[in-house]
Amino acid sequence: MLKTFLTRSCQALLFSGLLACTHTAPKEQAHPMSEQTPANPAFEAYSARFLEALWELEPDWALQVGYFKHLDKVKIPDAAYRKRVIQFTEEQLQALKQLDKATLSRSQQVDAQLIENFLEASRWSLEKEQSYAWNPAQYNISPSIARLFEPNALSQEQRLRTALLYFKQARPYYAAAKAAIKDPTLEHTRLALTQHQGLSAEWQRTYLSNAKKSALSKQEKAAFQRELNNAVAAVDDYRSFLKTLEKRLVKGPARSFRLAPELYRQKFAYELGASLSADEVYAKALEARERTLARMDELAQKLYPTYLPGQALASEPKQRIRAVLNVLAQQHPDASRFRETIAAQIPELERFVREKDLVYLDPSKPLKVRDTPIYARGVAGASVDAPGPYAKGGETFYNVTPIAGESRETIASYLREYNNFTLQILNIHEAIPGHYTQLVHSNESPSLIKSILGNSTMIEGWAVYSERMMLEEGYGAQSPELWLMYDKWHMRVILNTILDYEVHIKGLSAEAGLTMLTNDGFQERAEAEEKWKRATLTQVQLASYFTGYSELYALRNELKSLEAKEFSLRRFHDRFLSYGSAPVKYIRELMLAEPSH
Ligand code: ZN
Repeated sequence: MLKTFLTRSCQALLFSGLLACTHTAPKEQAHPMSEQTPANPAFEAYSARFLEALWELEPDWALQVGYFKHLDKVKIPDAAYRKRVIQFTEEQLQALKQLDKATLSRSQQVDAQLIENFLEASRWSLEKEQSYAWNPAQYNISPSIARLFEPNALSQEQRLRTALLYFKQARPYYAAAKAAIKDPTLEHTRLALTQHQGLSAEWQRTYLSNAKKSALSKQEKAAFQRELNNAVAAVDDYRSFLKTLEKRLVKGPARSFRLAPELYRQKFAYELGASLSADEVYAKALEARERTLARMDELAQKLYPTYLPGQALASEPKQRIRAVLNVLAQQHPDASRFRETIAAQIPELERFVREKDLVYLDPSKPLKVRDTPIYARGVAGASVDAPGPYAKGGETFYNVTPIAGESRETIASYLREYNNFTLQILNIHEAIPGHYTQLVHSNESPSLIKSILGNSTMIEGWAVYSERMMLEEGYGAQSPELWLMYDKWHMRVILNTILDYEVHIKGLSAEAGLTMLTNDGFQERAEAEEKWKRATLTQVQLASYFTGYSELYALRNELKSLEAKEFSLRRFHDRFLSYGSAPVKYIRELMLAEPSH
């Protein structure tokens, strides 16, 4: 899956070091689903108080979502801070309990649920998971400083003064980090080392030269230079602390990067907000792998004579599949026409969705395709880029990173990966009717809570579901080529889930993991290695795509059999999307409780 605003881990957790996703365009629009109960003003007041208290506690995160009231605060991640977070979750959960949920509008009920999930997950993370003690990579002041200088509403002087504050606080910040780290893993220690590499040179180069050119006073400029040097010293000190740790951990014993099975199961429940348990999703993924491989083999046998004429059919199913996939991957756009190819597909997808009446598309919000701006490049690919929740009236874009400047080898491998078939599936996933369409629907009942605490399992589940739904409804005219490539693409989602579970619960070895990804997933070695690394550094996030997809697919089938002849796919989709980015299990409750027509 591509890294995008939306596919990034959206699990916003207090103090977990994870970043929240920012995706909303807060504008009201007429929508086929209208509210039944009017909004309760008491709840609006509560959620405003909740957010204000949250931003006070999490000034870094506030900065990221474009809320600039707490620029004068820097979080020091010490024991006193963790105590305050626990207190905050308890107070807020208490306040939530006192609200009478029956008086809330549907949109507010979803908000209340999102807040509750968030608070419970945050408390669990601090009390049980305790990554603050084993993940040195969750401490880093650099991303917050970098964020200040991204395009935003701040003046250059405000940015520099806030950066100055971060530099000033670097020493107590890293002292708190060192005190908190008790039993780190080697993998997260190395990640922290990598992420703290070259910071001083980068700071000198960018921020210092900015400061010199700015309207800051002479004294402020001197202070900037001095505090930047102090911050560099604090980072160097943290790095030598990490290097000493690394040496000790290499000799062993060291804490394993694998989360204990019980913690994995709990984290799965808290962070994904799913109705299925980790074990149930894993069992489903194992079944799906077998089913998908069998179908891929059938398709490969069918396509073999066309694409490998005169060649004897390979005897092994996976050899047959690989051979056909390799030939199909040669059908790809020219590097120079990569963006145009994507842009040309968007109206096709729109037309198909309208013709088949699959889901409501807002005609006033066409998607704009553009080159990814320089500041947001780094990960090649395509992604939906929506303004942050506090950025008023911003536009939503489909960013496509130009690939022309890369090495010939990289371009060739990239184009094989994003060939004519997978590009279409990518566009369904990211744009229509995937992330972009879901985002537009979600904004029909706009609330800051939804855009800040939206459930990523639902968001990814919808995008993954929409790929399959489009093909089932006849997009691509049931072409076996497109279905085969779809299966390969979908296999990634299935294997992500199996890998994550087996790494943390069954102690899967690196070699066995890589073999699975390359053999069953037909992945390149480099892609598989990247995925293995991600599985050692994260837990449960890799399983969220398949989990959301499975829940949504099951919900659709449940309603289909309940409503029988009355069932309409269009109505199901519009209703499903009308609850905002709430956990699927919660949408299910609401859908089953309300009459559908
Ligand atoms: Zn996605």
